[in-house]
Amino acid sequence: MPELTFLGTGTSNGIPVIGCGCAVCTSADPRDRRSRTSAVVRDRGRTFLIDTATELRLQALAVGLDRIDAVLMTHAHADHTGGFDDLRRFNELQRAHLPVYADAGTAALLRERFAYGFVDAFSFYGGKPDLTLHVVDGPFDLFGHTVVPVAVRHGRTVVQGYRFGDLAYVTDAKEIPSASLDLLRGVDVLVINALRERPHPTHLNLEEALAVVAAVRPRVAYLVHLSHELGHAAAAARLPPGVEVAYDGLTVRSREDERGGLG
Ligand SMILES: [Zn+2]
Ligand SMILES: [Zn+2]
Ligand SMILES: [Zn+2]
Repeated sequence: MPELTFLGTGTSNGIPVIGCGCAVCTSADPRDRRSRTSAVVRDRGRTFLIDTATELRLQALAVGLDRIDAVLMTHAHADHTGGFDDLRRFNELQRAHLPVYADAGTAALLRERFAYGFVDAFSFYGGKPDLTLHVVDGPFDLFGHTVVPVAVRHGRTVVQGYRFGDLAYVTDAKEIPSASLDLLRGVDVLVINALRERPHPTHLNLEEALAVVAAVRPRVAYLVHLSHELGHAAAAARLPPGVEVAYDGLTVRSREDERGGLG
């Protein structure tokens, strides 16, 4: 069933980084140009946006995204919410409110920062986001699809990953509790964050991300949320079989999708 398109795959600065002349920031490889991490999942005719990254408008234009059935938020950090206001264009196109799913902590921050998106103030769609907020505290139904939140630790912040059938998306993790690892086992496709080679206090580095992949054992894993310390080609060349570096605009499918919509 699920097909995922990476809208953005970079860490919070994006790549190139402003004012940086390093080899990755000046690379001619288009895969080294990374907007902030976000993705869209398509599943049996429905389209789910994961996070509203800073470049949401540019990302939507790049991949032809013109419809969203629901928005799933991983957490409220600025790189994942900076494009929140762009949701209003989807209200305008669809002439409807959009449902937004988030855990209680993220929902509270969204209400605080984007209060105008959760009140009915205009008599037409498009002037502002028109959203209904749904608090996630366990597996939930989305248009007949079961979505399983997978809580991970990102320093002091809790981040929700999301599992759709045999595809799971986890970003901004530093630690994955064993109960959450259990929720990820059995996936065909795993998306996981890997920031750089050096350790970082709130993000998995490459070695730690590969350890998560080894524990989950998906058919294929895609690395996201990279910094400019990891060039695409050099990083990809060093990865074990079954692990790939994602890039902006890449679309991947899970086995269930290839079998024709089971699950
Ligand atoms: Zn982030
Ligand atoms: Zn750089
Ligand atoms: Zn974050």
